[in-house]
Amino acid sequence: AVRLEGVRLSFGPTPVLDGVSLTVAEGEVLVLLGASGSGKTTLLRVLAGLEWPSAGRIRIEDVEVDAATTPPRRGRDALRSRTAMVFQQHNLFPHRTVLGNVIEGPVSVQRRSRADAEQEARRLLDRVGLGERADAYPAELSGGQQQRVGIVRALALHPRVLLFDEPTSSLDPELVGEVLTVMSELAAEGWTMIVVTHELGFARAVADSIAFLDGGTIVEHAPSADFFAAPRTDRARRFLARLD
Ligand code: ATP
Repeated sequence: AVRLEGVRLSFGPTPVLDGVSLTVAEGEVLVLLGASGSGKTTLLRVLAGLEWPSAGRIRIEDVEVDAATTPPRRGRDALRSRTAMVFQQHNLFPHRTVLGNVIEGPVSVQRRSRADAEQEARRLLDRVGLGERADAYPAELSGGQQQRVGIVRALALHPRVLLFDEPTSSLDPELVGEVLTVMSELAAEGWTMIVVTHELGFARAVADSIAFLDGGTIVEHAPSADFFAAPRTDRARRFLARLD
C-alpha cells in the first residue's frame, strides 16, 4: 500500500532523511522507533505532503510521486489526498466546535456536502465515545478527548493511510489509555497505520512491524515480535534498554 524508495531530505547541510526505503502493506500497522532527532517526524511529514523530499520516490496506493520529476506542489497535494495525520498536539481550531473541526476538511477541502459530512462526523464521534460532545469547544474537553477528536478528524478525510506522530506524548498518564484503545480498534478494523510512539507496550501488542530509524536511515525493519525478542543492531538494543 505504501512504498518509499531512497527518500532524502535535508534542512541546511545536514541530511535528516538519508535514503529511506520502506514498504508497508495494506492493513499493516508499522511503528517507527528511533532516538530523538532520528527523523521520525520528518518522515511522517513527507508522507503527509507537508514536506517535499529532495530525492526519492513515494507510492501510496494508486498515487506515485518522484522528487526528481513531479512538481512539488502537485506531489504534495497527491500525498495529502491519500493520508491523514494525527499530531502530537491536537491542532484543533479553538474557535470551532468539535463538529466544526471534524467537517472542516471534508467540506472546505474535499467539497463534500455539509449535511453528509455532519452525518458522518456524528457517526465517527459516537464510535469514539464523543457523540455527546459534538457541540463543545476543544478547550472544554480533556486532552484525551481532544486527541480522540483529532483521530476522528483524520478518519473523516477518508485517507488510505493514517499517520500518527506521538499522539499520546503530551497527555497525562491516565489519559493515554483511551487514545491507545481507539488506535488499537482502528488497527483491528484493518486500517493501514504508520505510528511514531514511545509506547512500547502498544508497539508490542498492536504493531505488525517495527522500523528503527537512526541518523535518517532505517537500520532495522522487522516483524514486531522479532524486533522485541532480538533486535539485530546495537543501536536498537541500546534504545530498548533505555526505554524498557
Ligand atoms: P523527536 O523524537 O525528537 O520528535 P524525530 O526523530 O521525530 O525526533 P525529527 O523531528 O524528524 O526527528 O527531526 C530530525 C532532525 O531534523 C532534527 O535534528 C531536527 O532538529 C531537524 N529538523 C526538523 N525539522 C526541521 C526544520 N523545519 N528546520 C530545520 N531543522 C529541522
